[in-house]
Amino acid sequence: MMIRVNDIDFKLYMPESEIQKEVARMAAEISRDLKERNPLFCPTLTGSFMFMADLARALDFDAETYFVKYTSYIGMQSSGSVRSELPFPEKCRGRHVVIVEDIVDTGLTMKAMLQALQQLEPAGISIASFLFKPTSFQMDFKIDYLGRSIPDDFILGYGLDYDNYGRCYRDIYVKA
Ligand code: 5GP
Repeated sequence: MMIRVNDIDFKLYMPESEIQKEVARMAAEISRDLKERNPLFCPTLTGSFMFMADLARALDFDAETYFVKYTSYIGMQSSGSVRSELPFPEKCRGRHVVIVEDIVDTGLTMKAMLQALQQLEPAGISIASFLFKPTSFQMDFKIDYLGRSIPDDFILGYGLDYDNYGRCYRDIYVKA
């Protein structure tokens, strides 16, 4: 199946049924490991909103959730900087925090998030990312809960956008 977003063609990569299977598995793992710790979930806007919506409903506990706004400024070189707004820092101190991402690519965004969060003195940090691109990953942190590793191709759908379009699709698509 093909879709067209902003004049670019995309083909089906991961259907909704497979996505939901992975979400259910991740939710079971997180529930098993962290339920007793009453973790604070911090999904990053905007891409992770779909994943977080599904994850929250698949967990077997009522998770406190704060969406974190993240802006990355990536220049023409591969180096870049990421600015975060971590709301309610007092909420993080002494809590186990789960960072929820749609995708980890170079890892720059997550690394910046980790550094910002560490300053707030949480009891512990876990990383949950639905997708991961191992070939472009440049950092050293470990993803504790992972949906699927994918090749280094541009994808869209399930919250991921192309110029802010395409987020609505229930399936994930790759550039044709
Ligand atoms: P990183 O900092 O790990 O290089 O990039 C993370 C961010 O880049 C993600 O949160 C996402 O917004 C964006 N990104 C990385 N790969 C893709 C992709 O294939 N498609 C889309 N739509 N966004 C991506």
